[in-house]
Amino acid sequence: MADYRPSKRLLLLSLCFIFSFIIITLIIRNSSSIKNTKKNIDSIASTTSCKHVSIDELDRWFHSKTWHEIPKIIHQTWKNKTLRERQARWSQTWCEQYTDWYYHLWTDDENDLFVQTKFPWFYSTYKQLSPAILRVDSVRYLYMLYYGGLYIDLDYESIRRVDELFINKYIVLSLINYSFNSMNSVPNSWLVSRPNHPLWTYILYRIMLLWSRATDQERNSFWNGKAEFFTGPQSLFEGLMFYLHSNQHTAQTLDQLFGNKENQKSDSILEVANITFLGPKLINAYDWMSGIGTDVCSAEKTTFNENKCKDIVKPIYAITYWSHSYGHGHENDANYLENKKARYLFVVVYSFHNENEQTLEQLKNNYARVPPAHVALLTVPPTDSGLVQINKEPVKPTFDRARKPMPSSTSTSMTTLRRIAIPSDITPKFLQVAQRNTDRKIETCGILAGSKRDNHYMITHIVVPKQNGGPDSCDTEKEEEMVEYVANNNLITLGWIHTHPTQTVFLSSVDLHTHLPYQMLMQEAIAIVISPKYNETAVFTLTPDTGIPIISTCKKAGFHEHINNPPLFMAASHTTYDPGLQCQIIDLRN
Ligand SMILES: [Zn+2]
Ligand SMILES: [Zn+2]
Repeated sequence: MADYRPSKRLLLLSLCFIFSFIIITLIIRNSSSIKNTKKNIDSIASTTSCKHVSIDELDRWFHSKTWHEIPKIIHQTWKNKTLRERQARWSQTWCEQYTDWYYHLWTDDENDLFVQTKFPWFYSTYKQLSPAILRVDSVRYLYMLYYGGLYIDLDYESIRRVDELFINKYIVLSLINYSFNSMNSVPNSWLVSRPNHPLWTYILYRIMLLWSRATDQERNSFWNGKAEFFTGPQSLFEGLMFYLHSNQHTAQTLDQLFGNKENQKSDSILEVANITFLGPKLINAYDWMSGIGTDVCSAEKTTFNENKCKDIVKPIYAITYWSHSYGHGHENDANYLENKKARYLFVVVYSFHNENEQTLEQLKNNYARVPPAHVALLTVPPTDSGLVQINKEPVKPTFDRARKPMPSSTSTSMTTLRRIAIPSDITPKFLQVAQRNTDRKIETCGILAGSKRDNHYMITHIVVPKQNGGPDSCDTEKEEEMVEYVANNNLITLGWIHTHPTQTVFLSSVDLHTHLPYQMLMQEAIAIVISPKYNETAVFTLTPDTGIPIISTCKKAGFHEHINNPPLFMAASHTTYDPGLQCQIIDLRN
């Protein structure tokens, strides 16, 4: 009993001490967070954690600079803002160490809005992608394309900062192992990029194309073990191969490009065509394919033990536990089977140019274990064309509703465009097939297709799809027939053509929106408008500085007003009429 009282007093004393310590800590934290909110967003004051930013804050910061480095933004994604306990803990390890980085956790809803507003050309595919993992896979490529930065799956733990390795780099990827034949060795769960890198567009085009050409049965199987192939690491791998081969002008495998096997160490840092690959131990550490440490390293096992795992695989910068939580994490797709009737996305064909045939053949043999029909269109877009232009905040032009839409007479940033030759007989040929509609004052529309010779394009075909025309509109139907024709005849889609039976030649608000995806996928794409009544033919493109940013951010449908000064479209200056070309009409209407 004698010992009891002093120890009780001691206990009280220490409780008092702990209590006051907590109070003091709270006061200090409060005052520092008040100070933080007053700080400009550009200076991250806190040194204990990354800065969580809203999308608005992220956009403001991102657009305030021109990027010649990897932006310090960490992207993660989950169905909502509530992470599971261990996800939150692992996510926190990045935030605690990357104290001068921004951080955003993207929810499913935010992802949807992001794709819809920033990537309208991908949105119709995105909406159809199902189950959810296909969207979660795809949207990370879009973060990389738009913002760049660091994308991390939620089952990665940071051991120590790796961003010293990002200096002067363009793309940094990680390896799980060097078994490149499996196409799973470069995971898409940890990605580092500067904004607007073409690698991501290759992957996105591939997704659009495969989805548009897949049968219902194949789409169903994209979930049953095919997600890796369709949107996952294998899509990253194929995108990489196309990028490397088109930029290196080689058909070598990654093995060959990395030189001899001695280079391929667990902590090697390898570089090909400005893409940096971090060896297996540096980022992923645990290799689910080798099975070493699976019992304790796989977050899916009941025997999972993080510390034991780290003892075995000895990670250097980061480790992943491959929890594959996406399956049950993101929204479930019970209505998938009802959503199968997907529209064909004929626009994807535009960007696939039939060059590099030999490389393509070798690629098919080396890497592509997919039905030949799927690979047929996957040729390499040239890097200086067909790249997606990122929607920069448009410069607000003066608003003048009184003016009629007028094409711009000058072209400013069109100097890099390849020329398009148009057959001189295009107007009479097209008016001939349009005649029946024209007589009834109904529009007719078609696709301009052709081929590439040397460094220019020539239009050789007009493909007229099944359609439903009106006095000032023309809706195409059964676009898949058009896709098949263009693809099977090795044609490139170069734009579209339509008549204005009762009006002059110009691009209406609906025409501007119709034309946008063409030009987003291929800078050179043109819109030809023919007015039989006024005996006029014009060749238009959207102005790159005004038309593209305004139309791509305009969410209105049907006929509506746009600002028209500076002009949204202009006469295409990169076209010439060629009397030596013959225009062939492919009429799919009957
Ligand atoms: Zn029109
Ligand atoms: Zn609009």
